[in-house]
Amino acid sequence: MANKITLATVWLDGCSGCHMSFLDMDAALLDVTDKIDLVYSPLVDNKIFPDMVDLTLVEGGVSSVDDRNKIIKIRQHTRLLVCLGDCAITGNVPAMRNRYPVEAIQARAYIENADVNQKPPQQIVPDLLTKLQPVHTVVKVDHFLPGCPPPAPLIRDVLLALLNGQTPQISPRFG
Ligand code: SF4
Repeated sequence: MANKITLATVWLDGCSGCHMSFLDMDAALLDVTDKIDLVYSPLVDNKIFPDMVDLTLVEGGVSSVDDRNKIIKIRQHTRLLVCLGDCAITGNVPAMRNRYPVEAIQARAYIENADVNQKPPQQIVPDLLTKLQPVHTVVKVDHFLPGCPPPAPLIRDVLLALLNGQTPQISPRFG
């Protein structure tokens, strides 16, 4: 256990499809599970990010004030940060909201499409940023793992390369 690499996965503004693709590694998960210790993830119970993590995979773009605070803090506590999927890399699907003002999006979601309690939430729901931002525009990113979602074999290859201290052979950021 002591020699294992600590791995975290983070879910910002994405559909969870990238995490599903991570799980889709199926039997290939066995290739990495003896090398990693999954210390923080939507897939595990621990909800406190550790003091330092070797490798963090990030799904989704930076859409809210909470997302921004979270990824800044995580960047400070992780050695390698990898964007997992196109939403984290370019904004992709959730960035489609960027052409509209936040007030119009909230009116559409919470007033026009609501049958009861027609008003934007004043608490619990985090405040949206004016535009969704790709992760690299907020914090330094070490590697980009493209796809919507990235195919499971690609995730496996990149993980194995990083776990072996190699530079993964993936295309650079696009968009
Ligand atoms: S990249 Fe695709 S699969 Fe991944 S969170 Fe975005 S929309 Fe979902």
